[in-house]
Amino acid sequence: MALRDILIHPDPRLKTVADPVSDPSEVKKLAEDMLETMYHAPGIGLAAPQVGVLKRLLVMDCIKEEGAPPQPMVLINPEIVWSSEEKNVYEEGCLSIPEIYNDIERPAEVEITWTSLEGAEQSAKFGGLWATCVQHEIDHLDGKLFIDYLKPLRRQMITRKMVKLKRERARA
Ligand SMILES: [Zn+2]
Repeated sequence: MALRDILIHPDPRLKTVADPVSDPSEVKKLAEDMLETMYHAPGIGLAAPQVGVLKRLLVMDCIKEEGAPPQPMVLINPEIVWSSEEKNVYEEGCLSIPEIYNDIERPAEVEITWTSLEGAEQSAKFGGLWATCVQHEIDHLDGKLFIDYLKPLRRQMITRKMVKLKRERARA
């Protein structure tokens, strides 16, 4: 396994619609690296475009309880097939937009279908933090960031901050 560099917004690859994965066995190494990168960050979700790979693949683990066993999930070609009318608000953050947090409203429950690393068709309903996380990550596969839900002025302010952060990191 290896850590991958996480792209920081703004980056054109974070705005691009990712391509479906045709052969799950080809992304096994990528999925392992992404999980390692996510846990290392640390974060609860990571989508392939965030490490510069424009494929429809995401990893997540939203277990928060101290001492609970990890529950790593790899979702290939995930699709939202149902969303609840009921909404939920969570303070979201993103590994590609460090240190920025904002309340975002999304459907409280979603049903997702995806392909596993073994090539099996899966489906499950997600609620709570898992629902928010999976929707946030699927947005990444469609070139969408959580700040796209914010008012333009706030979004521009965040983007300027990130440009500055990238400049500082490049100099360091
Ligand atoms: Zn994100």
